[in-house]
Amino acid sequence: MNILQNVSLREHSTMRLGGNAAYVAEVTSRQDVVDAVAWAASQGMPAMMIGDGSNIVWRDEGFSGLLLVNKIKRFELFQEDEQNAYVTIGAGENWDSAVERTVAAGLSGIECLSLVPGTTGATPVQNVGAYGQEIASTLVTVEAYDAQNSSWVNIPAQDCAFGYRTSRFKTTDRGRFFITAITLHLMKTNPQPPFYASLQAYLEQHNITQFTPQVIRDAVIAIRRAKLPDPAEVANNGSFFANPVISQDTLDSLLLDYPELPHWPAKDGTAKIPAAWLVEQAGFKGVDDPETGMTTWPMQPLVFVNKHAKSTADLLRFRQKILDAVQQKFGIALEQEPELLP
Ligand code: NAP
Repeated sequence: MNILQNVSLREHSTMRLGGNAAYVAEVTSRQDVVDAVAWAASQGMPAMMIGDGSNIVWRDEGFSGLLLVNKIKRFELFQEDEQNAYVTIGAGENWDSAVERTVAAGLSGIECLSLVPGTTGATPVQNVGAYGQEIASTLVTVEAYDAQNSSWVNIPAQDCAFGYRTSRFKTTDRGRFFITAITLHLMKTNPQPPFYASLQAYLEQHNITQFTPQVIRDAVIAIRRAKLPDPAEVANNGSFFANPVISQDTLDSLLLDYPELPHWPAKDGTAKIPAAWLVEQAGFKGVDDPETGMTTWPMQPLVFVNKHAKSTADLLRFRQKILDAVQQKFGIALEQEPELLP
């Protein structure tokens, strides 16, 4: 394991902003993780693990510790019977490539999560979801190094505190577990309608009536390619805000003023409303902000694009303008989806 010194964190965020890391090491095995964490402890500095940086905003101050970049590869598929299969995927595997392999094997459960950027190990952290599927629904266990107890653990899904785009890994146990693999339970069955309206519309438009995992994956890829920028080409972190989950009372009073506000039932009588709609209504769809060098993507206003921002401070100033506008118009405080680190 090679430890590099004084590395720009811009190379480790698809938003391409942020200061420097004191030390960076690529980890390719479980032993690398143990060694790296021990080395950081011996130097009296913090250690942190990331994947591809697709959901990270680095502070301009940088990180004065050891950054572990997860490159752990693994892909083991166990076909249990005619219907059920289990797959263990290394945390450093590109997520979309892993989806592609499971879909090619005819398995269903994560096909709607096609083209979600980043590594496999990042998916349980925010319980990645798209088009009605979320990782919590198929996840069996998370394999991780517990830096608090210096031990290896296999955390079952029911102990991950999964919620809407959240888990214990980004809340109560943030920074404690270094995820090295996940195991999923997938099915050899075809996906069943009803699908999300945008997916359904695409299927109808293309006269698609046979729904296999491959058909749904291809549709999701086509929709995402048409609507979202490729982080390899355009600096962005995907959706910058999570969809607010609000009480029924708040929804009722919003509907009085905005009867066209889209909404879906959520847990315990709450309702989910689309952050993209709020941002658009607040006047920030396709907005180019010369003061900060930031823009919102014309096809999806939740996606912030770093056009020529100089620093994370610029991005945060742009974020504040949108937060203020949405708060003022709707009385709702949006929550940032990408993690602000360290
Ligand atoms: P869309 O299909 O135009 O829908 C807009 C929003 O409405 C989504 O946020 C979605 O919530 C919600 N929605 C739509 N149909 C729904 C239904 N039947 N039940 C419950 N909620 C429904 O959304 P989009 O912006 O093109 O994104 C499509 C999918 O990709 C969404 O699931 C979105 O979360 C996901 N996505 C995620 C990111 C990211 O960075 N995390 C970026 C782009 C897209 P949900 O978000 O809860 O699904």
